[in-house]
Amino acid sequence: MTLQEAIAGYMRYAGIKEMHVAAALIDCDGVLFDTMKNHTRAWVKLMQKNGIKCSRDEFYLYEGMTGTEIVKKKFKEGVGKVLTDDEARALYGVKGRYFLELGATGKVNGIDRVLDVLRQAGVPRIVVTGSQQPSVLDRIDVEFADLLSPERVTGNDVRHGKPNPEPYLKGVAKAGVPASQCIVVENAPLGVQAGHAAGCFTIAVTTGPISEKELYKAGADIVYPSMDALADALPELLNR
Ligand code: CA
Repeated sequence: MTLQEAIAGYMRYAGIKEMHVAAALIDCDGVLFDTMKNHTRAWVKLMQKNGIKCSRDEFYLYEGMTGTEIVKKKFKEGVGKVLTDDEARALYGVKGRYFLELGATGKVNGIDRVLDVLRQAGVPRIVVTGSQQPSVLDRIDVEFADLLSPERVTGNDVRHGKPNPEPYLKGVAKAGVPASQCIVVENAPLGVQAGHAAGCFTIAVTTGPISEKELYKAGADIVYPSMDALADALPELLNR
């Protein structure tokens, strides 16, 4: 799939005559930060301590749901326990501590370049994440400063996490432009589903074990193998 083909396909199903990118909605884990390895390790530890069977890879597939949604899902399926919101929040807090114990994580390679190309083109860059984890959210401002716009949508702002379109629809509302003028940058199938369902041109980047094929299946308009590949392609998308 070339970018031109992806744009032509998107314009057809979105029912628009021309493509104009006015805002970018940027996922956090696996897009800004290379955190997924440690998140999946921390989830497995939490489940093992509570006698819930799981595989590490399954947590890549839940990526995008809010933290409390994941806790509730696994406890219900694993031990038939329906958790209250408070119980889910407390267990998510424990998972957050395990995550911190695993040590520092870096940025995803090439993400600074992607954000800088968007900034130079005057396109706002709004973070839209299912995360509710302070140790990750607090780092965004510190490590990205003016590469990102100050607006945020986090797991604390939504009733339904990804794949529900709510997080990206809130991002679109913050951008103040139509969804068809927003691009989404994602790395996970549920996040791609959410961006697509919100009506945005959804770009996926393979930054973990999820294959290109799975991301297209989830509804990605185009998939890139790295952030650098996306940064190289962006001018063609922005200068239309
Ligand atoms: Ca992600």
